[in-house]
Amino acid sequence: MSASVTVRAAAKVNLHLGVGRPRADGFHPLATVYQTLSLHDDVTATTRDRWSVDLVCEDDIDRDAFPTGEDNIVVRAGRLLAAHHGVSRAAELVVRKSIPIAGGLAGGSADAAATLVALDRLWDLQTSDGDLLAIAAQLGSDVPFALVGGTALGVGRGEVVSPLLDEATRWWVVVPAGTGLSTPAVYRHFDELCPAAELVTVPDELLTALADPDNRVLAAALRNDLEPVAIDLRPELGELIEAGERAGALRGIVSGSGPTCLFLCSDRGSADRVRTTLLDAGHARVLVALGPVSGTHVVEYS
Ligand code: ATP
Repeated sequence: MSASVTVRAAAKVNLHLGVGRPRADGFHPLATVYQTLSLHDDVTATTRDRWSVDLVCEDDIDRDAFPTGEDNIVVRAGRLLAAHHGVSRAAELVVRKSIPIAGGLAGGSADAAATLVALDRLWDLQTSDGDLLAIAAQLGSDVPFALVGGTALGVGRGEVVSPLLDEATRWWVVVPAGTGLSTPAVYRHFDELCPAAELVTVPDELLTALADPDNRVLAAALRNDLEPVAIDLRPELGELIEAGERAGALRGIVSGSGPTCLFLCSDRGSADRVRTTLLDAGHARVLVALGPVSGTHVVEYS
């Protein structure tokens, strides 16, 4: 039997997402604080003659939105790593997906980071951390953070990551939408709504809040510049946020480019109650997740 390596890939929330008007290279400058959530995918890599990707998931994941060929980011990640080392190997990549697709939780980015780590271990490539981060940045702005995990500052277009200390446990209620939102479409709409946007850097208030285990302090410091844009595209998200806050959440926010909404709660009990209320109100999928968790890490060698 061929050897396999399985690596865990965590979803992320942006505790602060400051977005400026596009740079000369077309990318938006970001000032963000990322945090990993216990909601995760697992990627299993096995050496094969040809590249392939398979999806394993429950019915609540939108299978049709998952590319099954070369345009899947996990295949791009594998090819980029192999090219970096000048090796002509290929692998079968099985993605066990729980992170909603196109949900603003960076699931694809996390899968890409997990693939880099899985193949690095499977083929004993011993890629340096610096090289892994550089390859990750070529794949997407959120991919370096997925490698690092925990809570971290992201600048540039989000790809320049420095870890931050957050020793508290944050309880989140996660409400995915049935249909995803395209990140590029949300940024295009941001440019229409805010053509002169000035980048808002991460305020000291948020950095101080990270040192405080009282989630009320963190709740007051959350900010997402893409939230009004996502709500303009999907007005029902504004209603969902109000419903979650009425149900007892400290604060509801749109996750990244949306449409997933996240609710920060005071503790596990409160998160469970908010979840029950939102389920009773007819939301099909409502999860409880905690953060921060570790970045991509091996969970199984077989
Ligand atoms: P981000 O917040 O980083 O933009 P997201 O969470 O909104 O990400 P993803 O789930 O990462 O969105 O997917 C974005 C698009 O990438 C999807 O529409 C999908 O077609 C494509 N894609 C390619 N590979 C994957 C993958 N492994 N998992 C999910 N989507 C993928």
